[in-house]
Amino acid sequence: MYDVLIIGGGAAGYGCALTLASVENKFEWAKNKKYLMIDNQDSDITKASFFNLAGVDFGIGGDSLIKKMEMQLSKFKSCSKICDTVTKIEKSDDYFTISTQNTTYEAKIVVIATGMHKFDIVCDNVKVIEHTDVMKPNKVCLENNNNLISENLYVAGLASGAKTMFAIANGEGAKVACDIFKIWTGKPAVAHDNLKDKLI
Ligand SMILES: Cc1cc2nc3c(=O)[nH]c(=O)nc-3n(C[C@H](O)[C@H](O)[C@H](O)COP(=O)(O)OP(=O)(O)OC[C@H]3O[C@@H](n4cnc5c(N)ncnc54)[C@H](O)[C@@H]3O)c2cc1C
Repeated sequence: MYDVLIIGGGAAGYGCALTLASVENKFEWAKNKKYLMIDNQDSDITKASFFNLAGVDFGIGGDSLIKKMEMQLSKFKSCSKICDTVTKIEKSDDYFTISTQNTTYEAKIVVIATGMHKFDIVCDNVKVIEHTDVMKPNKVCLENNNNLISENLYVAGLASGAKTMFAIANGEGAKVACDIFKIWTGKPAVAHDNLKDKLI
């Protein structure tokens, strides 16, 4: 049973996963939490170069950026990443069963970060609507209230209707992670590392 399962490994999925995993050794409430990211490797990042994204190499190619994020996430033992396609999300009393093309997983909380191109995951609680804040037609997002779809089911990034900028999608992933921290702690919580923690 995973504590949080993230569907999608793009800007939003990594924002969420890295924020969740980065406190794994910091707080008692974060210890022994387990996260899983499932991604079928079709992020918009792979089609882009980035000249306007703060803090990365000027003009970095999307493939390199994805590899960097993947490497970063691999440093945290609490979060695994697998390549697969999610096909179904089913809610039981207090957990979700997530089916993929290959197997099933269970998780207490699910974050959908599947981008804006389509949403064909079978899921009772989800209403697919048109993404209207985008320059191209026929894009979709999921009805939500401040990233929450229903209890313990979140959406982040373009799938939530966010503007198509990396930083905005990535920030929404981080925001949802902090919303989840708040469920666990009962009060506002963020993931901060201090200067004394620096490695380079
Ligand atoms: C050509 C191009 C150029 C761009 N240039 C810039 C730029 O210069 N600056 C900038 O800030 N932004 C730029 N962007 C936008 C930026 O890439 C997106 O805003 C960002 O990637 C959106 O993040 P996301 O996580 O919401 O979606 P994505 O990054 O698209 O990630 C969604 C992920 O979910 C996965 N997924 C979907 N369905 C499933 C499923 N059922 N099971 C498993 N996985 C699934 C997909 O494979 C994908 O990896 C550009 C985009 C494009 C297309």
